[in-house]
Amino acid sequence: MKLNTSLLHFSDAVDSTTGSPLPPVAQVSAFAQESAEQMEQVFAARAPGFAYTRLANPTLSTFERRMAQLEGGAGAVACASGMAAVSMALLNILRAGDEFIAASQLYGGTLSLFHDLEHLGIRARLASSSSCGDIEPLINEKTRLIFVEAISNPGLEVTDIETLAQLAHSRGLPLLVDSTTATPVLLRPLQLGANVVIHSSSKYINGSGSAISGVIVDGGRFPWDAGRWPALEPYMKIPKLAYIQRLRQDLWQNFGPCLAPQNAFLNVLGLETLGLRVERACKNALALAQALEKLPGMYAVNYPGLESSSSFDLTRRQMAGGMGGALLTFRTGSRERAFALLNQLRCAYIISNVGDVRTLAIHPASSIFHHSSPQEQQAAGVFEDLIRVSVGIEDAEDLIEDFTQAAQAARPIS
Ligand SMILES: *Cc1c(COP(=O)(O)O)cnc(C)c1O
Repeated sequence: MKLNTSLLHFSDAVDSTTGSPLPPVAQVSAFAQESAEQMEQVFAARAPGFAYTRLANPTLSTFERRMAQLEGGAGAVACASGMAAVSMALLNILRAGDEFIAASQLYGGTLSLFHDLEHLGIRARLASSSSCGDIEPLINEKTRLIFVEAISNPGLEVTDIETLAQLAHSRGLPLLVDSTTATPVLLRPLQLGANVVIHSSSKYINGSGSAISGVIVDGGRFPWDAGRWPALEPYMKIPKLAYIQRLRQDLWQNFGPCLAPQNAFLNVLGLETLGLRVERACKNALALAQALEKLPGMYAVNYPGLESSSSFDLTRRQMAGGMGGALLTFRTGSRERAFALLNQLRCAYIISNVGDVRTLAIHPASSIFHHSSPQEQQAAGVFEDLIRVSVGIEDAEDLIEDFTQAAQAARPIS
């Protein structure tokens, strides 16, 4: 089956007890057992069943199973937010004294998280890009993982996953990829050798901006060893599944960032139209980027699907259909003009989110990156005059007209 068909034909597409083609929402905290013995069995994971929603919930399980199938992974764990997913994915295998390598072009919240990790004795070493050339020199005996974004937000640098996975594996390291902005429609990082995939499913997977959530998918192929990742020691019975088992049965249950059942349901709904939405948004993004490039007073239009992008060849080669995603950025000459342009938009909303069906625009430096230092902002490709657009599924003509009138109304300051 091809993607759009498979999104409507997951192995659990129809609820086996009711015939419902959408999963029932188990909007409960806890589940009744038939006996004390049954409770004991369920708690010890010796019998199937559910006890308490922080530990497992059938609606969450449906979302997790579908994400694992979609990414081609061995298992998935859903979290209350994308940031919870990024935190859990890292903390699952890092401890005080460890280092990891990350590209510096990362989502602002993730860069902030690295400061928190620093207080726990875990050090992020930031590479100036996600290329092997920039990452390899930072690997040392303390390195425990490599973390990148598939398409960095808002730098829009595409990572060569296959080449980076080869480097990581040659040094005995797992590659973790935040694939939020690529989505499983454009990229399956596990198929290219990545070991763990993370999504902020608040974005394209949900699709309507109706709930915050995140998900971690384990490829189940990395040969973990308990010497380098001691937290995995109790889970080494099946070494390849040690990561996901430790995450599900230990860290995720104890930190407690479980997803609300209703929000898991909204993600299951979103998955059905993921392919349609992402394809349409990518087409719109390319059309808008091409139009913006021709407008006077728009500088450095950045979109991976434009020939002028340094990621153009890789986008063609690595991303499904050569599609460059649905985010684009451009510069306006000054912070004042960026604000003026945003204020003139009639079709695009000023909303701090991406992956919505609506087109959203934002000034990253004063919003999502306000926690970052000027150096961090510069390394992440965030400038004072930069606007980021998350292109939606409207009619491209309307979007082009909207940005054209806004650019004209907010004239360059001479
Ligand atoms: C939004 C986002 C996150 C954080 O997700 P939340 O659901 O907002 O917690 C992480 N990584 C990327 C690339 C994102 O775009």
